[in-house]
Amino acid sequence: MLSDPIQISPSRQLTNLLAMDWSAMRDWVSTLGWPAYRTRQILCWLYQKRILNITEMTDLSLSDRSHLQSIATITRASNVTIRQATDGTKKFLLELTDGLEVESVLIPEDDRLTLCVSTQVGCTLDCGFCLTGQMGLKRNLKAHEIVNQVLTVQDHVASSSRLTSLVFMGMGEPLANMEEVSEAIKRLTNRDWGVGFSPRRITVSTAGLASRLREVAPLGVNLAISLNATTDKQRHELMPAINTLHPLSHLLKACRDYPLKTGRRLTFEYVLLAGINDSMADAKRIPKLLNGIRCKINLIPFNEFHGSLYKRPSAQSIGQFQMILRRAGLDVFIRKSRGRDVLGACGQLGDLQVGNLNNKRSSKEYGK
Ligand code: SAH
Repeated sequence: MLSDPIQISPSRQLTNLLAMDWSAMRDWVSTLGWPAYRTRQILCWLYQKRILNITEMTDLSLSDRSHLQSIATITRASNVTIRQATDGTKKFLLELTDGLEVESVLIPEDDRLTLCVSTQVGCTLDCGFCLTGQMGLKRNLKAHEIVNQVLTVQDHVASSSRLTSLVFMGMGEPLANMEEVSEAIKRLTNRDWGVGFSPRRITVSTAGLASRLREVAPLGVNLAISLNATTDKQRHELMPAINTLHPLSHLLKACRDYPLKTGRRLTFEYVLLAGINDSMADAKRIPKLLNGIRCKINLIPFNEFHGSLYKRPSAQSIGQFQMILRRAGLDVFIRKSRGRDVLGACGQLGDLQVGNLNNKRSSKEYGK
């Protein structure tokens, strides 16, 4: 049961409705002596209408609403800070109930509106090219804290548009927090009472927790794997924790064994670091490593941050790298870096000290 009571006074605890999963809500509704259909009603208010106040549940009688208010609450992030980059990307900093902050990045592009969500505060792993990795792990996010990122940002864009895609590529390693990530995805994809996202529009990215890849399959979402190197020596230097646990051979075996549905393919991400993993020899090794795996490749030119050891390769060498892979018959894309001036691009999340904090606003200010 994912219930998470919130202490508001020593004598009285309010239950956060968002912290309950479907079965916890069902049991709770039944304990209150309410009819079973009330479970769906309440969940629809939370996830489809995104209400912030129990008084808005207009299909509950006034007395039921007032009883609910006396025992429960709807608690999202308490403070939300938005930093807008010159390219239109927005980084959202959401303050959690324990005072920690989590980051989500909204990326508008053509007819798409993608939200990059976080799954941990900090990260379990220690990848040397990623700023989040340098924070260490503060804690795992709860399912509702993951879903709340989506609800809060959807509220923010509500008047003009809808989020079209979700990528689990923000702070943290999703597969190291798989239980909460799975529960969050269930609430985000449920069409009956949940947010109703198509699983095809959701991508979960892993640094390579090979033993847990299979757990992603039943969720029906897309899986991306951060390859980032072409030899174990190189990968060990760049991603020591994950490559010690699962060297390239393990990882690629897990990818080959992954129960990929017809018409779907895996995505391999490859962060390009000048002079480190961007040689022509690296490019030539990739098709051999990925031989027989239905996939596409996203090249991510390194996004620099204060104190980073690595450099982004020149546009010319990125182009050459892509060309070699294309000639080998692979589908290769270069990911545009978005939001770099607010540290909102891949690998730049976690430096809460940097940037302009003057536009701090309460979540209510831009509510529905
Ligand atoms: N832990 C997960 C998801 C978060 S990182 C994972 O590793 O996949 C999301 C993507 O950003 C990964 O592919 C990662 O390799 C890449 N990345 C991390 N730091 C980066 C940086 N500074 N520049 C460019 N890409 C980076």
